[in-house]
Amino acid sequence: MSTTDKSNITTSAVRAGINTDQHHGAVVAPIHLSSTYSLKGFNEKRQFDYSRTGNPTRSTFAETIAKLEQGSVGIVTSTGMAAVHLLCQLLSVGDTVVIPHDCYGGSFRLFTHLAKRGQFTLIVVDQNDQQALADALAHKPKLVLLESPSNPLLRLVDIEATTKACQAVGALVAVDNTFLSPALQQPLTLGADIVFHSTTKYINGHSDVVGGVLVTKSAELGEKLAWWANCIGITGSAFDSFLALRGLKTLPVRMKQHQENALQVANFLKNHQAIEAVYFPGFPDHPGHDIAKKQQFGYGAMLSVEVKGGVEAVKKLFANLELFTLAQSLGGVESLISHPSTMTHAGMEIADQLQAGITQSLVRISVGIEDIDDILADLTYGLAQSQQ
Ligand SMILES: *Cc1c(COP(=O)(O)O)cnc(C)c1O
Repeated sequence: MSTTDKSNITTSAVRAGINTDQHHGAVVAPIHLSSTYSLKGFNEKRQFDYSRTGNPTRSTFAETIAKLEQGSVGIVTSTGMAAVHLLCQLLSVGDTVVIPHDCYGGSFRLFTHLAKRGQFTLIVVDQNDQQALADALAHKPKLVLLESPSNPLLRLVDIEATTKACQAVGALVAVDNTFLSPALQQPLTLGADIVFHSTTKYINGHSDVVGGVLVTKSAELGEKLAWWANCIGITGSAFDSFLALRGLKTLPVRMKQHQENALQVANFLKNHQAIEAVYFPGFPDHPGHDIAKKQQFGYGAMLSVEVKGGVEAVKKLFANLELFTLAQSLGGVESLISHPSTMTHAGMEIADQLQAGITQSLVRISVGIEDIDDILADLTYGLAQSQQ
């Protein structure tokens, strides 16, 4: 694992928003629901004037994430997809953008549909295929999207090396860090220009907010994107920011437990007779293991498996699980299980899914922080039933 000192992340997360209330000294950052703010006098603005543009609660959340990601500007958006869409504002007609062939299904859908309408030229590549990546970079893209680990197959890309290659041709690099959170990976320190998240997942961590955030390394790029966020009106609400900030305070502690449980689940599944393959970067034989050791502070708590017996076995597994909830999303304290092909990645054509390695027997698991014995007991029963 990297030797970067993370103790300040735990402290920064917990201390977020403390001492921001100058009037009453509220220990928890107050929630400011006001949509508008009075001027001191004619043409004399205060720090905030209108909540689409700026809001104190959202601002505290944005500054905290920016600090955790070691960036300069944080922009809180209404959803993770709004953060991805905000990136598209950097592109003009005629520009080229490169995305990974196995990125989050919603991102894939957005980029392919906007490209179809002629908003930019899109190149979809397997970023671990060095020749394909070099060919794509020869088109001098304006923006390259990375997602590591990828959803749902947990593939990794070397962020530092890929970023260098992209920046060498003048591209901006934006990394989707949703699967790990800043507690386990900080792409800006690896050279990326932008890092973004669906805060719906680990950052909020309690499955009760849909939100996004984007952090830039340079203040200039941050100001440009903040201008667009206000212009197109995709900034996050004060209430959601308040909840996400509350969730964020326990992020490093939650990640510890998530990871401890995930490692046990992965080991349990690895030798299970109902399982054909386990995709988990924590295994030494995972193709991205060495990259994970180099650029991550942990292996995360997401994994996916191929269940023996195809989709029929998957259906039986789902029907016989009690603790695991069959649902989209990930990163909440509760364990969730999903079928990417018909759920998270349904926005991709089946042919594109297969190209990315998403089969009908693929199941994605978001390991929660319940008692590990209960988690394993549930999987033991469900998997036995799946093979009946
Ligand atoms: C969920 C997710 C998104 C989209 O975020 P929403 O909050 O659902 O809009 C983007 N990237 C990844 C990796 C995700 O898991």
